[in-house]
Amino acid sequence: MTPSNTSKSEWLLKPQSSARTAATWGAAKVAAGLQNLRGNLRANGFGILMYHRVVARVPGIAVPTNNVSPDRLRRQLTGLLARGFESWPLTKLVDAHRASRTVPSNVFAVTFDDGYENNFTHALPILRELNVPATIFLSTKYLDSDQRFPFDDWSASGTNQAPADAWRPLSTGQCDELLASGLIEFGAHTHSHQRFIGRSAEFCDDVQTCLDILRDRFGIERPTFAFPYGEFDAQLVESARQLPLACAVISKNQRVESGDDIFLWGRFHVSQSDTAAMVAAKLSGWYPLLATTVRSLAPRLAWAPPARIACAHIDPLRYEEPLPAIAVSRKATPR
Ligand SMILES: [Zn+2]
Repeated sequence: MTPSNTSKSEWLLKPQSSARTAATWGAAKVAAGLQNLRGNLRANGFGILMYHRVVARVPGIAVPTNNVSPDRLRRQLTGLLARGFESWPLTKLVDAHRASRTVPSNVFAVTFDDGYENNFTHALPILRELNVPATIFLSTKYLDSDQRFPFDDWSASGTNQAPADAWRPLSTGQCDELLASGLIEFGAHTHSHQRFIGRSAEFCDDVQTCLDILRDRFGIERPTFAFPYGEFDAQLVESARQLPLACAVISKNQRVESGDDIFLWGRFHVSQSDTAAMVAAKLSGWYPLLATTVRSLAPRLAWAPPARIACAHIDPLRYEEPLPAIAVSRKATPR
């Protein structure tokens, strides 16, 4: 893998041409169908999902792509479980990887970046309801702050346009309760969440501060780690390797295969527009394969896509699916 990074999601976050948007949408739908018909493309490895905020839509305010509503989160996770996917804690996947144990191909892990209060107020009840474990990667400098994260680019953050738990960082007390739930693990996300490309010495100091706080406040030793902004280079990866970290995750939309570098594990960005079928298609390996193919072909497309599709941006309401009747149904491993 090339040690560089571009954006949180190569599929949905970049401004795209109409042809690419339509092609990506088509790939998502085809991939979802293939996952439904054929099961997972890959026989080994697993997928990691990346979330940020879990908040209801605020009328009249533009929603950034890293907001997922509680209802959408519940539908995504319920749909995955109903399709036979099984959620594991990230540390269990680290242990399996280090022991060279095979991980069933239907396994996935849930992660949240930064440490928003809504992970406690909105995500935890859903995770409890579905018995889904998750990792929250904390930027420790902002714990207990009543200010917005300085890197938060959502226009409603820090204003009274959105409820405070939509943008406020977690408090230490909330973190204690999250840990007490038995479902939540904390990972490191640096202390100050800066851009560290080309600044490996500062990176090491900052991560060490984060590690000290995780250890002193929560008793966590050797946590998992997520690069802030998903940004990394060869020096940062090597620096992370030298620190007492269990693994490092990035934001590249790909499954983790058995031979992958444990300090470069990919994650799938999950957005509000993703139905459970589309998240399943991402985890299954079908979506990455098809999306890569259409992205390479889309610039050459001479046709103009139908306006309805070109403007759709994968409208979640238009492509919604019914919520499965059984909330938690762990079926046999998909093929
Ligand atoms: Zn972050």
